[in-house]
Amino acid sequence: MALIVQKYGGTSVGSLERISRVADKVAAASAAGDDLIVVLSAMTGETDRLLTLAKTIDPQPNPRELDVLLSTGEQVTIALLSMALEKRGCPARSYTGGQVRILTDSAFNKARITDIDAERLRNDLSCGRVLVVAGFQGVDEAGNITTLGRGGSDTTAVALAAALKADECQIYTDVDGVYTTDPRVVPQARRLDRITYEEMLEMASLGAKVLQIRSVEFASKYNVPLRVLSSFTEGAGTLITSEEDGMEQALISGIAFNRDEAKLTILGVPDQPGVAYRILGPVAEANIEVDMIVQNIAEDTTTDFTFTVHRNDYDKVLQILHGVARDLGAREVTGDNKIVKISLVGVGMRSHAGIASTMFRALAEEGINIRMISTSEIKVSVVVDEKYLELGVRALHVAFQLEAAAPSKNG
Ligand code: ADP
Ligand code: ASP
Ligand code: MG
Repeated sequence: MALIVQKYGGTSVGSLERISRVADKVAAASAAGDDLIVVLSAMTGETDRLLTLAKTIDPQPNPRELDVLLSTGEQVTIALLSMALEKRGCPARSYTGGQVRILTDSAFNKARITDIDAERLRNDLSCGRVLVVAGFQGVDEAGNITTLGRGGSDTTAVALAAALKADECQIYTDVDGVYTTDPRVVPQARRLDRITYEEMLEMASLGAKVLQIRSVEFASKYNVPLRVLSSFTEGAGTLITSEEDGMEQALISGIAFNRDEAKLTILGVPDQPGVAYRILGPVAEANIEVDMIVQNIAEDTTTDFTFTVHRNDYDKVLQILHGVARDLGAREVTGDNKIVKISLVGVGMRSHAGIASTMFRALAEEGINIRMISTSEIKVSVVVDEKYLELGVRALHVAFQLEAAAPSKNG
């Protein structure tokens, strides 16, 4: 008998009819003998709706109260699913994050799970019940409700699977697996049978929102076998595991993109020690994360400094930079919040030269200007104008032949 954690996302529980379908699936799995923990999201659109309510009252709502509000969405779906299971004669019980005791730190709106009280869940499982747990939420030491950041139900599921040493954590969503890129942008995208934790982590960090980044971090740290599959169609989905010998070694496993980027440049800053710190120090103090950084080579005694941030932080950073520019005697501050980042990801890149140049050629052939470039062992990222996002991703998908079965070292 296996212990399985299943997570159903917002679209999968978006209506009563869909909740009924999930209940049928869960009841069948339970009848087949598996122990089941089911983690649910709020109904699709509900978290956004609650967020809008809060922001109508205060554009920057009190973070503690925001979590009290946002966590209600998941409480609705867990109760409804448990009722539907009971109605089917399948013993079930719902729990909020605080009731399970999913302990988190106190960083409201983006809390991290620090501990899970697995004992209570084990007792319930041994009584033959299906446990239905609210995703996306926990409780801090002081008993405050916290939430885990958008997409956080994935992390609840993986953390529970790790704490209970589940045999598999299954993420049911509206696509039937992880694809070479977002199938909504490239209809020819291909489903991957497997992908490594490392690649999935890069894909998620670079914008593929199919799994929350932290859920992949957890899965990798605790070696939780993680599978993404469709709640609407049958199929094996995509298994996310550690790199193994004999695993299909694609050169490029996927293309990720991020629409939430903005870039800022400070022109004509003195080329001296400490300047990067004087520019980025105040940005860090404002708790704003910086992504790519480029500093030009000085032609005279001054240089230009460019970096990217989340688009939501653009106005705030622009304001900070105007202050910095005055202090440094810089010539000008410019910015662009209509840019996107496109990234190629693949562990196979480690042993292959020429990936970046193929990427740049494919973009050049479409007349797409590259604004910034950054590379690591298993990824190459470029920043381009927002209007080129779809064209760029599609061109790269063709250039790297991702629609065809990936070349494998096993034949
Ligand atoms: P859920 O509500 O079930 O958590 P999400 O909307 O968070 O679902 O994640 C699923 C979506 O992720 C898909 O509908 C798809 O548009 C998007 N997505 C982005 N990149 C990828 C990718 N590489 N493979 C599959 N889906 C992707
Ligand atoms: N309901 C939350 C959100 O929309 C958490 C989740 O669905 O994973 O972000
Ligand atoms: Mg999600």
